[in-house]
Amino acid sequence: MSPGINDAVRAAMRPSAADLEPYDPAFLPASINLSANENGYGMPDDVQAHVEAALAKVVANRYPQPLSDALRSELAAWHGVDPDQVMVGNGGDELLFNLLLAFGGRDHALVNLPPTFSMYRLYAQLLETAVVDVPRDPDSFAVDVDALVTAARAASLVIVTSPNNPTGDLFPIGDTRRLCEACPGIVLLDEAYVEFAPEGSTAAPLLPEFENLAILHTLSKAFCLAGARIGYVLGSPSVVSALATVRQPYSVNVLSQAAALEVVRDRMSFSATIEEIEAERERLAGGLRQLVGLGVRVWPSAANFLLVRVPGAHEVHRQLRDERSILVRDFSATPGLDGCLRMTVGTPQENDAVLSALAEILKGGSR
Ligand SMILES: *Cc1c(COP(=O)(O)O)cnc(C)c1O
Repeated sequence: MSPGINDAVRAAMRPSAADLEPYDPAFLPASINLSANENGYGMPDDVQAHVEAALAKVVANRYPQPLSDALRSELAAWHGVDPDQVMVGNGGDELLFNLLLAFGGRDHALVNLPPTFSMYRLYAQLLETAVVDVPRDPDSFAVDVDALVTAARAASLVIVTSPNNPTGDLFPIGDTRRLCEACPGIVLLDEAYVEFAPEGSTAAPLLPEFENLAILHTLSKAFCLAGARIGYVLGSPSVVSALATVRQPYSVNVLSQAAALEVVRDRMSFSATIEEIEAERERLAGGLRQLVGLGVRVWPSAANFLLVRVPGAHEVHRQLRDERSILVRDFSATPGLDGCLRMTVGTPQENDAVLSALAEILKGGSR
């Protein structure tokens, strides 16, 4: 229940919204913020200069291009699809909302693979869509593909996150193929973190084969544009047109379109930091594995974050935040994620700081 809504206002609300828990990023200022999976390395200097020059030329007295035409063409060329196979949104979140608007509703079902990104369920509930959960293995977080395929046969929308947030694992392409064959509705692969995964992890090669496959990308994670809110869906022209029917025409503003166009043109400039983040991920994971004697467990990750189980997780999270000014994400109250924290891979200094703070807190025996 959201606090601060009085009874009369609540009574006037859409019933599906009245008892929703609003999404809470649990953000507080901290010296080291490893809570939201942003790219903390910052934009490469040459890209930053191009973005600034482009922003300086933006004219804001006219409405933006509704479909972000210039950006859309650049994205299409990058991914080897036609521009009418690309839909740009105000962050991936808007596109997820639009997917539920277009493909959800009463008598429609979303198949969800918890534990995963909480927005899918939130938007489904808001839009009165039944949520059919196919829970992951409680220990390995592996997907039960047979159960998923069975559930998908009656779904209007299936969302699979690969790499998954917050568990970090990839969904194999062969399984995506089975899913697309079985599902009469839309199969969305949320690839918000795919840039950090090994080459060949994307489901994009299946796009020409399946009209019901859609892939979500964002510029918020690898490409340093979380604040500009740019995401995009790749899919068949039919799926993109369906999204066009429900979207707000001017949701992607001129400044964000201009910045994103430069970033996409300069995307190769991010390769070095992406590789560095991948190397740091393995180093951080190695450091965490050394804390096994203190009860720490870390799962493998193909993304820019690690899921870690620690004794007394909620209190560890609090001490990191209040005593060390290090913010990680506390998932310990989420079903299936008992004792789990998620930490974004930071710079080498940030990762060293979190490793030593964690070791000290756990050795301190504070539970
Ligand atoms: C971050 C994220 C997104 C989209 O983020 P935006 O900033 O809205 O583009 C989508 N899916 C997952 C799983 C994410 O973690």
